[in-house]
Amino acid sequence: MTSTTDRRVLLAKPRGYCAGVDRAVQAVEIALEKYGSPIYVRKQIVHNVHVVKTLEERGAVFVDETEEVPEGAIVVFSAHGVAPVVHEEARGRSLRTIDATCPLVTKVHKEAVRFAADDYDILLIGHEGHEEVIGTSGEAPDHIHLVDGPGDVAGVQVRDPDKVAWLSQTTLSVDETMATVAALRERFPNLIDPPSDDICYATQNRQTAVKQIAAQAELVIVVGSTNSSNSVRLVEVAKEYGADAAHLVDYADQIDPAWLEGVTTVGLTSGASVPEVLVRGVLQWLAERGYDRVEEVESVPESMRFALPHELRKDLRAPA
Ligand code: SF4
Repeated sequence: MTSTTDRRVLLAKPRGYCAGVDRAVQAVEIALEKYGSPIYVRKQIVHNVHVVKTLEERGAVFVDETEEVPEGAIVVFSAHGVAPVVHEEARGRSLRTIDATCPLVTKVHKEAVRFAADDYDILLIGHEGHEEVIGTSGEAPDHIHLVDGPGDVAGVQVRDPDKVAWLSQTTLSVDETMATVAALRERFPNLIDPPSDDICYATQNRQTAVKQIAAQAELVIVVGSTNSSNSVRLVEVAKEYGADAAHLVDYADQIDPAWLEGVTTVGLTSGASVPEVLVRGVLQWLAERGYDRVEEVESVPESMRFALPHELRKDLRAPA
């Protein structure tokens, strides 16, 4: 048994919403206010069950493909980005689009277009089937090869081993990606790096923060959804960096009280698509079980903000 007086929660900072998620969620909220419901959203606007449910209750309609959107209606593209073919389909159906693709994903798209224009084979490090990877690959399908971790490196086929560049999904594990890059460089010594980091500031900062608390906590709870790449990575990083156990939960009621057996220090963080209200729910749940001493551990200051999608800004400026 742990003494109740020693019990504490280490709360990672930064955690939760990143600038790209904040912008995408705001885009849907403002579109609902300005144009009324329904507002169609292609795919989950961000990978979080609670956010999607809340927006649905306000009148957003989530669809998988643009062909499900009625001709002429308004559709928002999610923060993960879309392939150019999706923009073409939307134009073909006369849809009014609001593109909430995170500017840091757009940056990777542009890098892909530039490398493809110079006829490089592009090795895109990422998770097969993830929406961001599908969108980026769509920018240069003939040039991009997906590399899903170091295990894929041996099987990569390129046209010219001296004309190869790598890019990555924005929400990967920094350490694992560096291991993949090292393995790629071993095979392709002239491998070209992206002009700047593709793993975004928010993913990197949340991993840095969880590393700091994991070393001092027996249990780490990560608030986030199972389809959220950056949230899942936080669980892996917490385990790697010293937590005896780490679990992903959407809501406090998914925590198993048995996880707390023998635990003095609980680490708590949340993925980049998670609203703070869900973290507060977990803090409340823990407080009711004696973990009411909360210490926030800040590892990196964060102040990034992105402007709203330009289609919305234009309409917001126009006289009513
Ligand atoms: Fe943008 Fe990074 Fe947030 Fe994804 S996790 S929306 S890339 S800031």
